[in-house]
Amino acid sequence: MTVNLLNFNQAALAEYFQGIGEKPFRAKQMMRWMHHFGVSDFGEMTDIAKALREKLAKEAVVAPPSVHLEQISEDGTRKWLIDVGAGNGVETVFIPEDDRGTLCVSSQVGCALDCTFCSTGRQGFNRNLSVSEIIGQLWVANKALGRDPKGDRIISNVVMMGMGEPLANFDNVVAAMNIMLDDSAYGLSRRRVTLSTSGMVPAMDRLREECPVALAVSLHAPNDALRDEIVPINRKYPIAQLMAACQRYLEKAPRDFVTFEYVMLDGVNDTAEHARQLLNIVQDVPCKFNLIPFNPFPNSGYDTSKPDNIRRFRDILMQAGYVVTTRKTRGEDIDAACGQLAGKVQDKTKRSLRRIKVEAVA
Ligand code: SF4
Repeated sequence: MTVNLLNFNQAALAEYFQGIGEKPFRAKQMMRWMHHFGVSDFGEMTDIAKALREKLAKEAVVAPPSVHLEQISEDGTRKWLIDVGAGNGVETVFIPEDDRGTLCVSSQVGCALDCTFCSTGRQGFNRNLSVSEIIGQLWVANKALGRDPKGDRIISNVVMMGMGEPLANFDNVVAAMNIMLDDSAYGLSRRRVTLSTSGMVPAMDRLREECPVALAVSLHAPNDALRDEIVPINRKYPIAQLMAACQRYLEKAPRDFVTFEYVMLDGVNDTAEHARQLLNIVQDVPCKFNLIPFNPFPNSGYDTSKPDNIRRFRDILMQAGYVVTTRKTRGEDIDAACGQLAGKVQDKTKRSLRRIKVEAVA
């Protein structure tokens, strides 16, 4: 059976080479060719012995996923629909800024967690992405952006904030992040790789031990009653447990704060009282806030908070001494803004079907 070497981090690649009777140091060479130089043809890997190249050509491939569609926004944001087979596609977004270039990477085809305001959640869920499909998004984006391996990085930061809950696909996400951090591959620092979770507490503890990167938490509500409703995983891991997990995570995190993301939903979670409740629940966790004006999508049932309400909310947090950013909406014209990623999901949960019926009746 042909093996796709993009599924291996360096440790797994070393095992693979040992398994075919080769020296483990070949793994480092192969990582450089595949990820640093973006080469997929063994014939071009000139410092690898010809006999080994020929052997690899018979039993292995370097096969990134293919791009189904590329869109470029007026503001320079780019979005790729990555074909992951069987009618499924995931989205990857590149956001250029003055001092950095950030790639937003997907981890699952759809998402099983069903947050009520999230376009991805609405699509239902099909499956976890493999390591090659996760790291392949970085590979494909670097190629499309014309990155010169000898020049500066175009993608300086990665956020695991695309489609899916990354901690629900723990092993593959951690293996792919290991490749992002590997000096032989992309060489990103842990501070520049951010994982965003909706709050899977046991997996947060595992991540702290196995691959601590910068942490963002999709909080979105300042009390359990509201969070149970709009981020349903809260029923399993309520806010007090989540905050304790954040404190534990910070013991080993590369940054000394957690970023709390908070989508601003008109009349739902955006009052002054909500802001005060928020201050109360985070008081023991060093943190920053990222307020995200809701990006509407068809039949979402929500509206974006009014600018005055977002400002009032922000001011209450800032007056309490917190750093608060209000996310600028980028790539809105190509549906690449936060919470808008939909991809193409062959839903196995039948959730999308139920919704279509409900919406048809309403
Ligand atoms: S917000 Fe995140 S965890 Fe919730 S449904 Fe969307 S992708 Fe899944």
